[in-house]
Amino acid sequence: MLSTMQDVPLLISRILTHGSTIHGTSQVITWTGEGEPHRRSFTEIGDRAAQLAHALREDLAVAGDDRVATLAWNNAEHVEAYFAIPSMGAVLHTLNLRLPPEQLAWIVNHAADRVVIANGSLLPLLAPLLPHLKTVEHVVVSGPGDRSLLAGVGTVQVHEYEELIAGKPTTYDWPELDERQAAAMCYTSGTTGDPKGVVYSHRSIYLHSMQVNMAQSMGLTDEDTSLVVVPQFHVNAWGLPHATFMTGVNMLMPDRFLQPAPLAEMIETQKPTHAAAVPTIWQGLLAELTAKPRDVSSLTQVTIGGSACPPSLMEAFDKLGMRVCHAWGMTETSPLGTVARPPANVVGTDAEFAYRLTQGRFPTSVAARLTGPGGERLAWDGESAGELEVRGPWIAGAYYNGVGAEPLRPADKFSEDGWLKTGDVGTISADGFLTLTDRAKDVIKSGGEWISSVELENALMSHPDVAEAAVVAVPDDKWGERPLATVVLKEGSTADFETLRAFLADEGHIAKWQLPERWSIVETVPKTSVGKFDKKVLRRRYAEGELDVTNLSGQHI
Ligand code: ADP
Repeated sequence: MLSTMQDVPLLISRILTHGSTIHGTSQVITWTGEGEPHRRSFTEIGDRAAQLAHALREDLAVAGDDRVATLAWNNAEHVEAYFAIPSMGAVLHTLNLRLPPEQLAWIVNHAADRVVIANGSLLPLLAPLLPHLKTVEHVVVSGPGDRSLLAGVGTVQVHEYEELIAGKPTTYDWPELDERQAAAMCYTSGTTGDPKGVVYSHRSIYLHSMQVNMAQSMGLTDEDTSLVVVPQFHVNAWGLPHATFMTGVNMLMPDRFLQPAPLAEMIETQKPTHAAAVPTIWQGLLAELTAKPRDVSSLTQVTIGGSACPPSLMEAFDKLGMRVCHAWGMTETSPLGTVARPPANVVGTDAEFAYRLTQGRFPTSVAARLTGPGGERLAWDGESAGELEVRGPWIAGAYYNGVGAEPLRPADKFSEDGWLKTGDVGTISADGFLTLTDRAKDVIKSGGEWISSVELENALMSHPDVAEAAVVAVPDDKWGERPLATVVLKEGSTADFETLRAFLADEGHIAKWQLPERWSIVETVPKTSVGKFDKKVLRRRYAEGELDVTNLSGQHI
């Protein structure tokens, strides 16, 4: 028997219409680097999204599932594109502006983008790429930047964003689409190989946004202002633009001002209540706030994800009154997979802290299982470690494989019964909390035992003299692999390797056989395009002899 319920598709246009009417006075606040930030209400965003859709359809002939790319910072115009493009039935393709140019060109060609909406400040990146972009016919430019860079770049037509949308109707008859249709696409940042295209549907984004808004996840309301540091090109800014339009949360957008000093100023002057970014951003902010204290008392909730949150960072933020909420996810999971809010019956700071340090608990719609090396299912006992596999309505079931091609389902990424193999290794407790010990490819396999690189890094980063630390596996004749610790020392610090090694054993409770013997001081840990430790680069630098490595028996390697 079928239900008697209305079969209403879950569409992005619904989120836009709701946000721009019911929460019309909520604002997108964009940092401009000088004076007062720019403010635009949700109603204005809705009007301008309709104007943009008219311009794309009528002037640029965007139709069907044409891909419209954005090369942009987090700002109001980017939010307009977020809503206009999928709502009209086209596909939003957010481009990661930190990727190497040749990878960016590969991605644009692979997705066959017809239009690129770009911020003027990014034209120095875009202009030299254009001759290599085979399918791009139009570039639409918004915000400050030198337009002359685009002169003579071939057949591409260049438009001014504001001129293009000016005078267009502020309403649009959004089509009733199939909710399973493509709404947006995002390529993985390639930490683990070639970028892979993930295509989100209207339905997946809608359901994911509802989860983001649940109290067990971010739980924000129209009394909140969220500082969205995580880029809009990094898994849809973790779903925040959509989620905020559902609930009227104000968005504070940093545009290109992502350095610690302007972020601190944004927090002090605009008083956000929530913020979201990867750990490296917060490490930078912490150093800034230590050097120059500011009033950050408004910011009571900070969502950290993208890589493991070091306990020392969580502690330091707690002391500043900014409560960290740890979350795990991937491009393939939209990204919200788990959020670490301790269960209600957990009392006492230590017990609570232990829960908060896990990657978190799975929501209803994310089913999880652990698979051992032989393919066996492992128990949720908090001890059995295996590869995490997930399944759910906002989890990818395949990768985009180019125009007209069947989607890709590589066997190392998807199980035979359709689950996503995350490549993350960890345990799950009986009450459903995930603790990741490593990425499968970052685990150090020493003499048949596994050493967690993340555990060593976290212990090292809790030393007062250590600013950053990354640990990678390096080949070893006797053990197969051993850990190499690369350390960034704080300015003026005199800590030596012996001291750090002793600290790992004493304070970090690291087993003796897991302690690294190879050590190297580095100026900075190389970062990926989304700000994670780039262990691929460290491994390569080691292999090519570029690192000055000491081993603690005194031998210089
Ligand atoms: P990339 O795979 O290119 O780094 P993603 O942003 O999709 O791009 O990264 C997803 C991966 O990031 C996860 O598979 C996991 O390894 C890591 N990750 C995300 N959140 C966390 C977290 N809270 N703790 C540890 N690792 C995390």
